[in-house]
Amino acid sequence: MYIYIFFRTFVPYFYKMAGIYIHIPFCKSRCKYCDFFSTTQLEKRARYVEALLEEGRMRQHEVSEPIHTIYIGGGTPSMMDRNDFFKIVQCCSEWFNVVKDGSLEITMEANPGDITLEQAQAWRAMGINRLSIGIQSFDDELLQLIGRRHTAEQARQAVAAAQAAGFDNISIDLMYALPSQTMEQWQKDVAEALQLGVQHISTYGLIYEEGTVLTTLLEHGVVEAVDEDTEMQMYDYLVEQLTANGFEHYEVSNFALNGRYSKHNSSYWNNTPYIGLGAGAHSYDGNVRQWNISDLDTYIEQAMAHTLMPEKEILSDEQRHTERVMLGLRTNRGIGIDEIDRSKAQPYIAQGMLIEKDNRIVATTKGYHILNRIIEDLI
Ligand code: SF4
Repeated sequence: MYIYIFFRTFVPYFYKMAGIYIHIPFCKSRCKYCDFFSTTQLEKRARYVEALLEEGRMRQHEVSEPIHTIYIGGGTPSMMDRNDFFKIVQCCSEWFNVVKDGSLEITMEANPGDITLEQAQAWRAMGINRLSIGIQSFDDELLQLIGRRHTAEQARQAVAAAQAAGFDNISIDLMYALPSQTMEQWQKDVAEALQLGVQHISTYGLIYEEGTVLTTLLEHGVVEAVDEDTEMQMYDYLVEQLTANGFEHYEVSNFALNGRYSKHNSSYWNNTPYIGLGAGAHSYDGNVRQWNISDLDTYIEQAMAHTLMPEKEILSDEQRHTERVMLGLRTNRGIGIDEIDRSKAQPYIAQGMLIEKDNRIVATTKGYHILNRIIEDLI
């Protein structure tokens, strides 16, 4: 019931705001674990930006709600030409109803190797006010093993440069369960992350995705996966350390200091509409999800000719309910008790994996270990 009231009460509020996602699919090199849509065909960058701007121009009337967040992800947006970048940000402000009250969050994902003081100052001047830095680890051997192109020292310097340029909303990404990673190595990574003075930390356990270089190396016995128990211990250690140091564990993989949640990512978990521009980018208007083709040349061709043909999925009531449960249980907000059959939650409550609080069901750290199984049982 609570979530029903919550949505009934706040849906108009949510629907009065929206976000923009911009996909920059270029990377200087491919990380060995990566199965995202990205390319190293850097010579196509300028043409891609033209196509992206064309798509924005075409679709500007699709969103009338005020835009509260812009998220530039990839790929590696930080390696884009500064002028191209400026055009993208400027066009978003011109074409969309971007809030002008100073509350706009503009996040850019950045590779540590691309961040210098001068570069960070330029991004600040363009209006970027949040950086999401893909550090992943402070262990040079592990960084090299997974194919990242930066070093631990570059990561430290990148954060320092961003801070010196005036960024006071910095997120870093960390990965755990890297090949043969020990608890000791992970403890050092967490300790270093806490030293940096950043406001937000996102963490991901490595997944050996099909078709990636790392998975082939695993299959050939060149690298060794961390066992499940160690992976769980790494997660528990992370939660314990970050929360002990004042970070709020507000989503299964995300931690924030002083309420510095990722506003953009929170809007995904809150069912807020967003428009996605670029190859492979997804959009959602509250009912329909659509996504552009994940092929650079075809995307450019279609966007320039105004013939983009995104695939679409109209969500049924049942699908939307499933998503509310899935996304809600990932957050510390949880879900309303009336969203589910309480008897199905009872065994997990008894085992301390779910808790019931103020007519809501919230997953605990223990529950996060098997969240997918819990969700499957509840829906
Ligand atoms: S930088 Fe990101 S998108 Fe690019 S290859 Fe590495 S993980 Fe993939």
